[in-house]
Amino acid sequence: MENKRPGINTICTHVGEIKDEQFKGAISPLYMSTSYAYEDVEVLRYPRYFNTPNQEALGKKVAMLEKCEAGMIFGSGMAAVSTTLLAFLHKGDHVVVQKTIYGGAYNFIVEEFPKYGIEFDFTEGFSEEDFKSKIKENTKVIYVETPSNPLMLITDLEMITNLAKPKGIVTMIDNTFASPINQTPIDFGIDIMIHSATKYMGGHSDICAGAVAASEEHILKIWNVGKNLGGSLSDYTVWLLERSMKTMAIRVRAQNQNAKKMARWLQNHDLVKKVYYPGLKDHPSYALAKKQMKGFTGMLSFEVHDEVDLNQFMKSLKLIKQSMSLAGVESTILVPAKASHFLLGEEERAKQGISENLMRFSVGIESTKDLKEDITQAFNSL
Ligand SMILES: *Cc1c(COP(=O)(O)O)cnc(C)c1O
Repeated sequence: MENKRPGINTICTHVGEIKDEQFKGAISPLYMSTSYAYEDVEVLRYPRYFNTPNQEALGKKVAMLEKCEAGMIFGSGMAAVSTTLLAFLHKGDHVVVQKTIYGGAYNFIVEEFPKYGIEFDFTEGFSEEDFKSKIKENTKVIYVETPSNPLMLITDLEMITNLAKPKGIVTMIDNTFASPINQTPIDFGIDIMIHSATKYMGGHSDICAGAVAASEEHILKIWNVGKNLGGSLSDYTVWLLERSMKTMAIRVRAQNQNAKKMARWLQNHDLVKKVYYPGLKDHPSYALAKKQMKGFTGMLSFEVHDEVDLNQFMKSLKLIKQSMSLAGVESTILVPAKASHFLLGEEERAKQGISENLMRFSVGIESTKDLKEDITQAFNSL
């Protein structure tokens, strides 16, 4: 990247695009071939080698968005998470994992690592001491996710790098909630960025995909394991994801703005007890979020007072949909205690500060006037 870095919307729209030399079309052609010549070629191409023309092209866009040398596209966020972790952890190795991470990643570690003889420890919290105290002689990886789900707590990325670098520990972040628009962790020395592209990269709740960005050297390691595990994405979906990513910066910034407006509005609502949004000055991680993020995301959580019948409230919403997933252009809402964090149990939820009255709100791009109206009529129906 000796050239000046293009603006974010130019990267989203153009970087990695395939020139249509034959027909001079405006967009990347879609190459669905699963079979390519093997003689007189520079590379052996095959979908599971993550190197079809469309896979390679989109990998370049992800890499530049994350300011990294290389990128890879996966069949799901979990394919990206599992392949990346297994590329750096071998039998007898140890990994320090942040306390609150995506449920699927937690399950993968807890259920699969014992079979591979990989040791792991979860931190007690988010502080330097919490991470430092878990590092052992055989620690090879520190794995974090920030902002965390659903309370939007922030992990200090510079602190993580300072702990890891002197010991030669590889650092990985699940950067899904922030998206590369709001956070580029390499700025703080993090080695490997992982995404569920099902969320902000796809952005329309119609694509399941994953992505990783890192140095050439690290990506080669991930590729070596990836081709064996087979978590590649079909070229048709890669092509659709490229289309989605052209508008990612515009979408995410609109969602940032909407979420901030909704957070402030909810904060002043009589029936709302507490709002968790890192862009609010009273959020415990506000200073840290301001330091390491460019925007505060479209995700927020809010707790309602005990007298509110959550079931009734959720059922009364007309515009905002109840949904397990997040980050689409449409606003969605979920009760963590009943969905994403149900399996944790009430005791563990209480320990993590996740109240039974908490709602996670993925703010879309609709007019905030309509979102406010929807919430108001749902509260009024109680
Ligand atoms: C959804 C999600 C994942 C898993 O991604 P899939 O595409 O569902 O496999 C990982 N991390 C975070 C933070 C997520 O929200």
